[in-house]
Amino acid sequence: MTVRSESSVSANASDEAIAASTEHENLGSKSGPTSALETEISVLSDPSSDSPQPLDKVCPKCSVRTRTAGAFCPQCGAPYAGHRRGFKVSRRVILIILAVLVVVGAAVGILVSVQHTNQLNAEKAAAVQAADVARKREADAAKTAADAAASADAAAAAKATKDDAERAVRAIIVKALEGSVLKDAKSRVTDGTLMGPISSASCTPVGGGSTDDLTAITGTFECIAVNKTDADGSSSGYRFSGTANWNDGSYS
Ligand SMILES: [Zn+2]
Repeated sequence: MTVRSESSVSANASDEAIAASTEHENLGSKSGPTSALETEISVLSDPSSDSPQPLDKVCPKCSVRTRTAGAFCPQCGAPYAGHRRGFKVSRRVILIILAVLVVVGAAVGILVSVQHTNQLNAEKAAAVQAADVARKREADAAKTAADAAASADAAAAAKATKDDAERAVRAIIVKALEGSVLKDAKSRVTDGTLMGPISSASCTPVGGGSTDDLTAITGTFECIAVNKTDADGSSSGYRFSGTANWNDGSYS
């Protein structure tokens, strides 16, 4: 009993000491509640306190006021102060990023525009150049064709001239053959072998041949030495045969 009593007295004495101390503090300040609030604020804002103190926080998202030491709203899970501070920084960063994006976008737009213009110009130039090349090729091809045609014409003309000359030479050879036949026939009349007088001699190609057929190397002729001409214009005489060699112009 005695011990308890002492203990009780001691406890009472301690309480009185605390009460006195509190009264003393209260005397030093104008009002109790204000002092208590200031104390609480000083405790809460004490940077040396390790564990975060509970605070009345208003959620920036759902607007629910909660007394909590957590960094997130227990109602919706949205972050408190960190989110707000982050939002301010993010806004500034976003503005800077937007400004940079606008500048970069404008620069890229200008570059793309310039590049597009350059590409269009290059394509136009290439098209013009291709058209020029095509026109030049076409003109060259036309000129080549014209040259070839002119060359062919010239060759044909040259060949025609040459052929005409060849035919003229053959006509002269035939005349010479006829002259030779005439001379031979007259000589035979003089000898008394043939009956005269021999008026003329003519030679015609044998077997449908023609002096105009320039592919033939030789021409065979049937010649007649005329000694009689009838009233109807037909003539008769002695037959001779001759062969002309067109290559060397000889005949026999
Ligand atoms: Zn919330």
